[in-house]
Amino acid sequence: MMTRTYKRLLIALSFIICHSSFSVAQSIYLDESKPIEQRIDDALSRMTLDEKIAVIHAQSKFSSPGVKRLGFPDLWTDDGPHGVRPDVLWDEWEQAGQTNDSCVAFPALTCLAATWNPAMARLYGESLGEEALYRNKSVMLGPGVNIYRTPLGGRNFEYMGEDPWLASRMVVPYVKGLQSKGVAACVKHYALNNDEEYRHQVNVIISDRALHEIYLPAFKAAVQEAGAWSIMGAYNLYKDQHNCHNDIMLNRILKQDWGFDGVVISDWGGCHDTDEAVRNGLDLEFGTWTDGLTMGKTNAYDSYYLADAYKQAILEGKYTTKELDEKVRRLLRLFYRTTMKKNKPYGFLCSDSHYEAALKIAQEGIVLLKNEKIKKSKNEKVAAPLLPIDVTKTQRILVVGENAIKMMTVGGGSSSLKVQREILPLDALQARVVGLEYARGYVGDTIQSYNGVTVGRSLYETRSQAELTAEAVEKAREADVVIFIGGLNKSDHQDCEGHDRLSYDLPYAQNEVIEAILKVNPRLVYVNISGNGAALPWLDKVPAVVQAWFIGSEAGEAIASVLFGDVNPSGKLPFTWYASLDQCGAHALNAYPGVWREDHKVIDEEYKEGVFVGYRWTDKLSNGKLSKSKLSNGKLSNGQIHSPLFAFGHGLSYTTFKLGKMTADKNAMTEGDEITFTIPVTNTGSMAGAETVQLYISDLEASVERPVKELKAFQKVFLQPGETRQVSLTIGKQALSFYDETNGQWKAEPGAFEALAGTSSDKIVSCCSFNLQ
Ligand code: BGC
Repeated sequence: MMTRTYKRLLIALSFIICHSSFSVAQSIYLDESKPIEQRIDDALSRMTLDEKIAVIHAQSKFSSPGVKRLGFPDLWTDDGPHGVRPDVLWDEWEQAGQTNDSCVAFPALTCLAATWNPAMARLYGESLGEEALYRNKSVMLGPGVNIYRTPLGGRNFEYMGEDPWLASRMVVPYVKGLQSKGVAACVKHYALNNDEEYRHQVNVIISDRALHEIYLPAFKAAVQEAGAWSIMGAYNLYKDQHNCHNDIMLNRILKQDWGFDGVVISDWGGCHDTDEAVRNGLDLEFGTWTDGLTMGKTNAYDSYYLADAYKQAILEGKYTTKELDEKVRRLLRLFYRTTMKKNKPYGFLCSDSHYEAALKIAQEGIVLLKNEKIKKSKNEKVAAPLLPIDVTKTQRILVVGENAIKMMTVGGGSSSLKVQREILPLDALQARVVGLEYARGYVGDTIQSYNGVTVGRSLYETRSQAELTAEAVEKAREADVVIFIGGLNKSDHQDCEGHDRLSYDLPYAQNEVIEAILKVNPRLVYVNISGNGAALPWLDKVPAVVQAWFIGSEAGEAIASVLFGDVNPSGKLPFTWYASLDQCGAHALNAYPGVWREDHKVIDEEYKEGVFVGYRWTDKLSNGKLSKSKLSNGKLSNGQIHSPLFAFGHGLSYTTFKLGKMTADKNAMTEGDEITFTIPVTNTGSMAGAETVQLYISDLEASVERPVKELKAFQKVFLQPGETRQVSLTIGKQALSFYDETNGQWKAEPGAFEALAGTSSDKIVSCCSFNLQ
């Protein structure tokens, strides 16, 4: 007989069992052991129409709501891409004035690309992810991979240069590194946002080949190889449709062809139409100005295109919830990958490791553009390269230029940061050299704060240009070496979001001051800070030039370490540095900034140069088809007239390298095959250093006009003096292919190819012929 107590126990037990199995069934969406797609189905089935509408648009400047009732937290985004932007007020662009949001600024992405080292991109992504985690940001608005089409592009500094292969190899580890921390990358600006002028009105007209061969590969790699969890639609139009709700770009290419399973986020204010947003692939709307797209209306989030207007259309039967559910699924997937991910690492801000990462990336990205021999002082008999500067032998060093004292982490638009510290070049140089002198030289941008973030040092100046020049010249007369630190500065029209540069020249009185200094002292090192090339009319007279980018918190330290030789520079240009604008295809063909339509609402910008962007254009003008006979003394026989100042891939070192003869493991390949090229690289100098072997492929017989050569593989090798390493680079069919416009497929045509190895696009030193059968 059952006792009463036993009976009670049984009843209680069965209640617990029933209850717990009931609750498990009810909470699949919370059950981490269940596959994400099943959890998404479950969560979706529990959401009301209002909750679904809520998650697909913003609730503040940088956040969108989760689903509170079900335990999904809000989703916080933030710029990106060089550090975690300071918090702004809930519904204002003004800085919130927090005291816990100072960050480490990492080098701008042009510098990252200039490292030609994917390991640096991984380090970058991971470090940034840790900073983002601490700040509770789940989506970082970056990286940007728009191609450097014109050196006037205001945001080129945020991107990874002119070459689709280089940008692809660098974006993948950045995204993987960031997402390994449970923070989503939002790869931007998809696509064809290659200049800033009229960015909301530009309608890009482009061939399918150029689109797929030049402008899309880095996005595709970020999606397919790195598995990016979100992507940002660009402001501009393509085929007359805004890219934030562009049927071809989003529905067809991104989602259908590439299989993107993440969230398409609008650029801030990039959404313009409910119907298009519903149908054409936008998943999450941010930043819309709701009173006619020009001015903000406080707390107007319900008026967003994907808010009340969409809900109303569903209630009226214009739409079923088919499209909505598809968008919400993507959002839920993003939640599970980020905000709902339990086993995320802890974040931390401003750690030593982050400063070390920022420094290392900066040091590897700085490019030594020129370093010629010169007698290092008036009394010196022998000439030697001006850099590195030997502090023990160089007594009087003069630094000239505003960029030596200007914070560069502040300004430039949405990538502007509030840093815990930024080492200015002058401070770092003065810390190493007692008695180092400074002259301002010119006045550029004297702004004292940007979006509420103040610039450390006062840039106020009352002296006239004549006085500033006179001071620089007088001090230069006595100096052993003059370091001029100039370039652009992230103020409007000088490498800044929203507008392009107005001219290719260096701004302010920089050229004038440099010329004046050169008259009294030829031992001048020009250090250029920028994300773009610029005309350097005095280049022949200047023995040393260093490209130092916008390099973040450790800027001064990185620059000083390269100038004084603690670090051997190994950066390579990720773009062609033209002598003048007309060397660039877009400008030579008058294909920038476009032509306004009659109603002045849209400006058509036709990318007339097609696939011939950067070195592809330079090569096309110089040589026509490349063959072994065109290799002379390790250099392409470029027609002088088309030679840029510095070629794509160019970058010197304090040591010397020798590349030997390249061999191939076969001389014919089939479509399914791979072919490996091996080339010995020797450090022939006396300092440890790194060289980047670049492999370009040339299609010798093609049914379409192909670039003379295209970068398809590269490797950076670190070598001790005297050390030799065999560098092997493998390519497959894709490296031989072009985008066939007749059927929308990539095509590798059988026939003869050449593999060209070199240390820059204009220094090809070895070549192998092979056939595709
Ligand atoms: C920029 C984006 C940025 C966003 C949010 C836009 O104006 O184009 O790159 O992420 O603002 O700040």
